[in-house]
Amino acid sequence: VGVFYRPLEKIAAVIETYPRGIAGFRRYQELLATEPEIADAPDAIPAPVLRGDIRFENVSFGYDDRPILRGIDLTIKAGETVAFVGPSGAGKTTLLALLPRFYEPSAGRITVDGIALDQMQLHSLRRQIGLVSQDVFLFGGTLRENIAYGRLGASDAEIVQAARQAQLGPLLENLPEGLDTIVGERGVMLSGGQKQRVAIARAFLKNPPILILDEATSALDSQTEREIQTALDALSVGRTTLVIAHRLGTIRHADRIAVMQDGRIVEMGEHGALVAQGGVYARLSG
Ligand code: ATP
Repeated sequence: VGVFYRPLEKIAAVIETYPRGIAGFRRYQELLATEPEIADAPDAIPAPVLRGDIRFENVSFGYDDRPILRGIDLTIKAGETVAFVGPSGAGKTTLLALLPRFYEPSAGRITVDGIALDQMQLHSLRRQIGLVSQDVFLFGGTLRENIAYGRLGASDAEIVQAARQAQLGPLLENLPEGLDTIVGERGVMLSGGQKQRVAIARAFLKNPPILILDEATSALDSQTEREIQTALDALSVGRTTLVIAHRLGTIRHADRIAVMQDGRIVEMGEHGALVAQGGVYARLSG
């Protein structure tokens, strides 16, 4: 673990732990200590219930002075699934990190349902963005507590339903203590695929209109991968879903694909059209 967090790890931690419960609050404080938080504008409004129409308008961004995103224009309709592909370092993660306002664009603006992000109170925006990343944060505690992290105060029935939707049903049934099973270092160690499904269950509980999926780079066995894909497909129904795709398999499920290169979207469209175009995507997927 280096000095830098990848942006999405930070988003994962902030979104998943946003001031709920003591553990979450402490974690949140740690993050505040590492990164200055963006303050709400005095006239910022609580975000209304969002549909999830997203627009990036000529958005540029750089860490320090090094330009990373260069004039991104992108419109995503509510309910649409868009996969972001492109070489490592192209800026996919950084682009999606701007949506929960982990960073501020240096130029341009981003709107959801026509409202600029910086006009909304930060917590009311983040409450409506779910994140499933490869870096799942599980704490030592019961499976119940770990899933309920998606929405504190959820009932057992809701937690079990979310677990089933996340394809954790068989695991739950095989654990003698079910939701009371202690997970993590003091208890049952969950596999990478199981942890990811806990993150998916949290997202089902949270029920946000907008989802950011950071697909796992590590290889999972094909059965696990299918189960996770089934769960993610169910999760993304009716939500605006932005997927950072590292493998081409998942892209088939997207409505559109944004191909990024060197901080720009160089191609955008459906899989078939992009293949026919014979450009960057065709070479990537060929
Ligand atoms: P990958 O597929 O490898 O995740 P990516 O397309 O998501 O790549 P980003 O993670 O957005 O690319 O990174 C874009 C550039 O920004 C890279 O050159 C990266 O080194 C740099 N970068 C990312 N995060 C930070 C940070 N917190 N501070 C400084 N530079 C960063």
